[in-house]
Order: sequence, then structure tokens, then C-alpha cells
Amino acid sequence: MGLAMSGWSGTPSIAVLAMGDSPLIGAHELGHSYGLHHINLPAGVPKGPYDSADNGGMLLRPGFDVRAGTAITLPAADLMSYFPTRDPGPSTWLRLFTNL
Ligand SMILES: [Zn+2]
Repeated sequence: MGLAMSGWSGTPSIAVLAMGDSPLIGAHELGHSYGLHHINLPAGVPKGPYDSADNGGMLLRPGFDVRAGTAITLPAADLMSYFPTRDPGPSTWLRLFTNL
């Protein structure tokens, strides 16, 4: 079960709850629904079990925020972490395609 700020999902699950105005919370909870666990960033903050990720979960290249029309500022971490700036990293995309 995952709880991120204002969301909830089992891992995996058939239902997701995401409240508020943050699409990232909904995307994070959908990741749980598709069987993804947390990336342990900041260390010890998200609840385990944890999945591994490239570069320890820290993004090497900025993603793009379509709503804001700007690049994500670095440092940023994988969507499945609790790092303040998050975006789907290569590991999350690969884990999603593997689990679908
Ligand atoms: Zn979570």
C-alpha cells in the first residue's frame, strides 16, 4: 500500500485515490497500482519495500513539465520517490513496461 501526500494505492491494485492539484501524485499512485514500489529517496522516508533505479533514483537529465511548459529543475529524482522534485525516470518507464 502506498500513501504519497494525498493519495493511496495498493501495490498492485485495481483502484487508485489521488486528491489535490498535483498530477504527479496521481501518476505516483498509478505506478503503485501497476506494481511499482518506492525508490528509497530521501533515504528512509518512503515506506519499503523498495525498487532499485538507475543512478540511485536521481535523474541525470531533466524531464519536461508539459503543464508549465518548462524543463524540470535538477536535482530531481524518480517519480516513485518522495524527493521534492520528481519526474518519471528511465527505470520507472522500464519497470512499467515490464509490469504491463
Ligand atoms: Zn508511494
